[in-house]
Amino acid sequence: MFEVQNQPPPLEPCNLFASDACLREAVRRERADWAADGLTMLGATLGKPETIKLGFDANRYPPDLRTHDRYGHRIDEVEFHPAWHELMAIALRAGLHSSPWADPKAGAHVARAAGTYMLTQVESGVYCPIAMTYGSVPTLRQAPEVAAQWLPRIFSRDYDRRFRPANDKTGALIGMGMTENQGGSDLRTNTTRAEPAGSGAFRLTGHKWFLSAPMCDAFLVLAQSPKGLSCFLLPRWTPEGERNAVQILRLKDKLGNRSNASSEVEFDGAYAHLIGEEGRGIPIIIEMGNYTRLDCAIGSSGLMRQALAQAVHHARHRVAFQKKLIDQPLMTNVLADLALESEAATVLTMRLARAYDEDDVAALAYRRVVTPAAKFWICKRTPFVTYEAMEVLGGSGYIEESIMPRLYREAPVNSIWEGSGNVMCLDVLRAIARTRDAADVLRGELDHGGDARMKDFNDRLLARLAAPEHNDEAQARALVRDLALALQAALLIRHSPSYVVDAFTASRLDGNGSAFGLLPRGLDLRAIVERAAPAQ
Ligand SMILES: Cc1cc2nc3c(=O)[nH]c(=O)nc-3n(C[C@H](O)[C@H](O)[C@H](O)COP(=O)(O)OP(=O)(O)OC[C@H]3O[C@@H](n4cnc5c(N)ncnc54)[C@H](O)[C@@H]3O)c2cc1C
Repeated sequence: MFEVQNQPPPLEPCNLFASDACLREAVRRERADWAADGLTMLGATLGKPETIKLGFDANRYPPDLRTHDRYGHRIDEVEFHPAWHELMAIALRAGLHSSPWADPKAGAHVARAAGTYMLTQVESGVYCPIAMTYGSVPTLRQAPEVAAQWLPRIFSRDYDRRFRPANDKTGALIGMGMTENQGGSDLRTNTTRAEPAGSGAFRLTGHKWFLSAPMCDAFLVLAQSPKGLSCFLLPRWTPEGERNAVQILRLKDKLGNRSNASSEVEFDGAYAHLIGEEGRGIPIIIEMGNYTRLDCAIGSSGLMRQALAQAVHHARHRVAFQKKLIDQPLMTNVLADLALESEAATVLTMRLARAYDEDDVAALAYRRVVTPAAKFWICKRTPFVTYEAMEVLGGSGYIEESIMPRLYREAPVNSIWEGSGNVMCLDVLRAIARTRDAADVLRGELDHGGDARMKDFNDRLLARLAAPEHNDEAQARALVRDLALALQAALLIRHSPSYVVDAFTASRLDGNGSAFGLLPRGLDLRAIVERAAPAQ
């Protein structure tokens, strides 16, 4: 029998808040210091071995669609493993689905962002219905009578998993259905029809090609009504207490996000209620999209953090060639580079979340431009970070028992859904062109702090933004990448230690980031890694 040697202990228990210096600083800075105690408790709960195991179980036993009961009646229900339900209960108890709306205060969106950033490190599938419910509130408020009925249940912190009419439940969750088979980015191609049925009610007939978390209590959906594409709330049960005419055709067999169900559905005269003005469905539902896009940036930042924490932890314990991996100069370079990416993502995400806590003109402009920019760049970087962090663990990183394969499989989804990469970049161009004060707000954010490299980068970026060809679609990715990098660098200059700033500006502002571990000489790499290390 061989003796187990040179294997690191599992990174558990690990308080996901207390052990993350960058997150703690961001929460304080972005005005959610009042939430620190609650976040410390949530970080402890999520980082317990029992909770970590729930994340593994929820993915090992994915959901199962039951279209019919034993007698042949349609039931269209999805069954989940108990681990899924336990994780949902933890997330709802912490208010991650609605706390900034139920209890609005300065820093409320930041506090909630910090909570979801930690949730996704343990399990990302549950994040989907949590994000959609959070995002649904401003859209639901456009129909006050619907909001009056639904918001109290959405604000409840009870996770009521029972499949029954929402009136009989203590809590409710909201999903969304926009994407159809023939088009997801171009929503004008939606074909689902909505026939008026009186008093704001409509009957919907058609399909949705993606509808995640189909056991939510209701869905915000788009359909073509007599006045054009409109937004509706479609509950799983009718007001009469009957199952609504929603058939779940099948569940998608997904690359990752396997604990969560994503379905294809058909509506056959399904009851729905109009939300907002008829014919203005896209702007009304995009209100929700802004929040779910923020959540994509939060979720991807959380994935990067978990991948980095696992990598640094492993390198601290594993020895190769008589030295800990963390002390091998080339490994220090790789880890430091990963830490820079993670910190830059976190500071930008939390700054963006603060813009959702404010409602002055500058905050609105910041949200409008930076939400798609942050979603694009942060989500694009995540697959690279999770892959490189996996390699730090060597062969063990490729094995399912480590969390690394799950993080890697999860990494692309935030970039694809809620507006894929190109669509986000085109949206940034549109936002800059149409948003009052956008250019001034960006200029005010792009602090160079006396750093010559940063000043030069900013000057070139601002010149490109003002140039006649700034809306050249073919160059949109390059422009948005540089905007995101400039915003990240400016935040790091303002708030992070100088060794982080030096390494970030030296490595990110010259367009040479083709792989991790290419940081140049003369930087304090060890200090960067120590700052990122998860304290247990
Ligand atoms: C796991 C998962 C869960 C999902 N859950 C939901 C859900 O709950 N509800 C829901 O409504 N949808 C959901 N979606 C669907 C998702 O939002 C869409 O897949 C996404 O918006 C892209 O739409 P599409 O698949 O039709 O791709 P398309 O619109 O065909 O786009 C394909 C590619 O073309 C690019 N592209 C599009 N237009 C342009 C352009 N003008 N210039 C350059 N490039 C362009 C896009 O960026 C993309 O890369 C989910 C998707 C996934 C993967």
